[in-house]
Amino acid sequence: MIASLPSRLILDRSALVENWRWLSRVSGKAACGAAVKADGYGLGAAEIVSALSDAGCRDFFVATWAEALALGRLPDGAMLSVLHGVRDNEMMFARAGLAVPVLNSAAQVARWKAAGGGLCHVMVDTGMTRLGVSAADIASGLLDGLMIDTLMSHMACADEPDHPMNAKQLSLFQSLCAVVDACRYSLANSAAICLGGEYSFDLTRPGIALYGGIQSEKAEGHIRQVARLEAEILQIRTAQAGETIGYNATYTADADMRIAILNIGYADGYRRGFSSVGQAMADNQSFPVIGRVSMDLTAVDVTAVPNINEGDWLAVDYDLKRASEQSGISQYELLTGLGRRYQRQWI
Ligand SMILES: *Cc1c(COP(=O)(O)O)cnc(C)c1O
Repeated sequence: MIASLPSRLILDRSALVENWRWLSRVSGKAACGAAVKADGYGLGAAEIVSALSDAGCRDFFVATWAEALALGRLPDGAMLSVLHGVRDNEMMFARAGLAVPVLNSAAQVARWKAAGGGLCHVMVDTGMTRLGVSAADIASGLLDGLMIDTLMSHMACADEPDHPMNAKQLSLFQSLCAVVDACRYSLANSAAICLGGEYSFDLTRPGIALYGGIQSEKAEGHIRQVARLEAEILQIRTAQAGETIGYNATYTADADMRIAILNIGYADGYRRGFSSVGQAMADNQSFPVIGRVSMDLTAVDVTAVPNINEGDWLAVDYDLKRASEQSGISQYELLTGLGRRYQRQWI
């Protein structure tokens, strides 16, 4: 690593673990797993697996075999599962026991059976119309003879508690559980865990809520932010009344102002949606973003605080719920888009 980078992500291990514990409590008797796909929603899957397995989490989900390979062997007793199933050229990883595939299609089931079977999971589509075998596939005997650890399905609208899809998916899944022989059944992502105990079955699969995302009113006050963004001030400058700031001159100083230029921009995931609406903070004071966020730099108004200087660090407000409302970008995209230029520091 070169000398310390001028932007960093401070990652709070105890917030992560407390979030998992809360989700685990709300999951009731069901085991609580963790979705760590997309490198742990951008925060670092290896550290997350290590922290959560220390806390007692046993079920981890990645999207692809590349993600499984990057993680390597999990601690004893933990199970890694690959949500996208297994393609022909990935069978060697599955056969080697690197992870357990979630079979999603008739072709994947056939491939698995042809290779001799072994423990697998199956995804059934109950209304998402994304990955998964269909109820009709199941009725026709597609799954006969498989050794299924977990039969799972995925919720489409769980972040809208009153959406009729929720009860519809629940009831279809319940009817499939009655006819498919599996060790465990699993339906709930973060939002569905908050819909009620009947959604939890034997295993829940939260992702976003582990990392501070709030998808349900019920989670507010319980889920803590895990990632804090900080950026260094590269320059302090003044703008005189009438001068404009940044690309396309979208902001005009109406009086003389003091401006800090921060080492963060949309290439770091600090999206253009924060232009003139986001804020940075230090010592309980907040500094509004002024003008367009550019690729690598963002200007904030520090007129109110004369003792802020070049080389100082400011926190950049990234409270996921508020930031999502401000920028119009989903909490998922805010996290997974964070980019590679931060120094990631677990505390
Ligand atoms: C991503 C994913 C999850 C986790 O969803 P969150 O909304 O982040 O809690 C659970 N199950 C499946 C199949 C997923 O793809």
